[in-house]
Amino acid sequence: MCVLLTAEMNRIDTDHLYVAKFGGTSLGTPEGIRRCGEVVARQRANMQLVVVSATAGTTECLLALIDESFAENKSKTTAIIQALRMRHTSIVSALGLGRTCIEAVNALLLEAETLSEGERLLHDHSAALADRILSIGERMSALFFTAYLRTLGINASEFDVRDVLRTDSSFSQANVHTDHVQKLTRRRLIPCLAVGKVLVTQGFIGCNARGQTTTLGRGGSDYTATLLAEALGANCVHIWTDVSGIKTSDPHMVPNAKHIHEISFNEAAALTTFGAHILHPATLKPAIRKNIPIFIGSSFEPKQTGTWIKKQVAFKPTVRAISVRRKQRLFTFTSRDIYHTHSFFSRVFKVLAQYKVATDLMASSECSLSLILDSSQRMHNEALLAMRQISEVVIEHNLALIALIGNHIHRATGIFLKAIQHINPISLRLIVHGVSEHNLCLLIADHHAEAVVQRMHDQFIIGKNVHELHSNGQEKPSTQMANIGDRLVDM
Ligand code: ASP
Ligand code: MG
Repeated sequence: MCVLLTAEMNRIDTDHLYVAKFGGTSLGTPEGIRRCGEVVARQRANMQLVVVSATAGTTECLLALIDESFAENKSKTTAIIQALRMRHTSIVSALGLGRTCIEAVNALLLEAETLSEGERLLHDHSAALADRILSIGERMSALFFTAYLRTLGINASEFDVRDVLRTDSSFSQANVHTDHVQKLTRRRLIPCLAVGKVLVTQGFIGCNARGQTTTLGRGGSDYTATLLAEALGANCVHIWTDVSGIKTSDPHMVPNAKHIHEISFNEAAALTTFGAHILHPATLKPAIRKNIPIFIGSSFEPKQTGTWIKKQVAFKPTVRAISVRRKQRLFTFTSRDIYHTHSFFSRVFKVLAQYKVATDLMASSECSLSLILDSSQRMHNEALLAMRQISEVVIEHNLALIALIGNHIHRATGIFLKAIQHINPISLRLIVHGVSEHNLCLLIADHHAEAVVQRMHDQFIIGKNVHELHSNGQEKPSTQMANIGDRLVDM
């Protein structure tokens, strides 16, 4: 017999380890759960760690529960618990999981109800309590998915991720202590793994040093999967969702968007930053640190090809994808003192750091600095007041950030000219080009976004006039492009 787990060293044979994550939509219905079960069953010959999200809509319901408890609206909180109970018990019954499983789900919902009552009666509106309530979604999924896998004859057990996923106490957006995760995984998780065994664990949640439950931010289960893969030294991570991988643009906006078979870590990082909601933005960090390829596939069509995100890819087009972020705001801070601009910038950054304003794109001129904030990125009133102390502040709304994502874009001057020809000059507000080799960003009036993205996609992705392929699969610029810019791509 081949011994894959060497207990004395707490090391595992990672060639036989399979880390998979199933998202909320994949686990949203009994049919969906059966398909996820088939995906797990196919890997029976390996040892598996399976990370699960709350079923689709459950985290939203738990957030509503927290809000209604805050508003002291008892009838609404009761209705929400009832809806969650209906949804989960009907899944459990449809899968034939029996009384014990229903009782265990009910016990978790009772916990959610007790916590929400606590919030209402004791006026405890802390983020710590909210995280305890939110954890119930993932805990219910882990519970019923383990029970379901057992009915398939799979040797499955539930593993509480809070035993290994140590975080700080920034409730709702906790930061992970990766060293602790590593140590705890070696001590507590690896000894539970074995060939033919499946450990089912919760995504999204963690635990601080005091044993309090924390969460990693919305969509955090992807991040859990790569963190655990990193701690285990896994060879790859499979993320199963409701779409078979990444497309060249948002298919709702661009119906002829094409499938991407593989994409580099850097391009995928740019895509997650600039609007593609494919992965939780932190997911790539552990994967990049340990060079762990990520596969994204659809549990609804597991035989479809999906997308691989890896360090090295064979084909590196100048433009791989076009992403868009709607409803952006542009903040421009202008110094009142044109002679001391060096200290002006440092003061601006000090305020941004003090109020934890996270921005991912900015541009500056001699005495002004503009930054783009997504609707999910907050600029607190206190931060604005502090900015007004040191500068004039102008805020513009209803903008869309369009990003061309690819390789060597910073030197692709031809691409830049091609890009702006699709934009009505009146609607072009700002350009950030030449900083990153993986993106070129344009800020335009939001109501032009759909038409511009479609035209750019036709030009750069569909159009044969822009990029042709060498027979070896490498990109080469067309003559037309080469004439426009003499430093087009580093060939
Ligand atoms: N259930 C959490 C959310 O909906 C985490 C996740 O799905 O990854 O945000
Ligand atoms: Mg989710």
